[in-house]
Amino acid sequence: MKVAVYPGSFDPITNGHIDILSRATVLFDKVIISVLENPEKTPLLDLEKRLELIRTATKDMPKVEVDCFSGLTVNYALQKKACTIIRGLRVISDFEKELQMAHINRKMTPEIDTIFLMCNLKYAFLSSSMVKEISFLGGDINCLVPECVKTHLNKLRETR
Ligand code: ADP
Repeated sequence: MKVAVYPGSFDPITNGHIDILSRATVLFDKVIISVLENPEKTPLLDLEKRLELIRTATKDMPKVEVDCFSGLTVNYALQKKACTIIRGLRVISDFEKELQMAHINRKMTPEIDTIFLMCNLKYAFLSSSMVKEISFLGGDINCLVPECVKTHLNKLRETR
């Protein structure tokens, strides 16, 4: 059974994340999308809401499991018996940070590899922060996020 972990903030999950996830499920028997509880970041959505939105958005993806973790990603991957960490790459600036992270992770845990999937060209400009900004400014995020995310962000905008 080949298991991969797809870690991130997912604040909120976007169609770019879903695209990476669906391509990862072709390569692995199980993909665990896992929200990192990162004390360094102040998310817009709390952990429970992010998990709920991911669960709804991935309900028709049987190979996907939804989870959360804190601490080192490699330790979490070992605990989940995963052999691989999945990350998405959009632009060159992603690459530099990700390369450093992948090398550090390999140094700590050589038995776990990192695989990078190039994002779909149509999502190359897409990030969670961009989605939040567009939504709060009243823009259309229809083709950028799953339906449940759009509904939730619209609700937040109306109550702001
Ligand atoms: P993090 O804080 O770990 O970067 P994100 O939720 O922003 O968390 O991203 C999680 C992963 O998804 C990262 O590997 C990131 O590069 C990737 N990703 C983010 N947006 C996209 C996108 N539009 N297309 C493909 N991959 C993406």
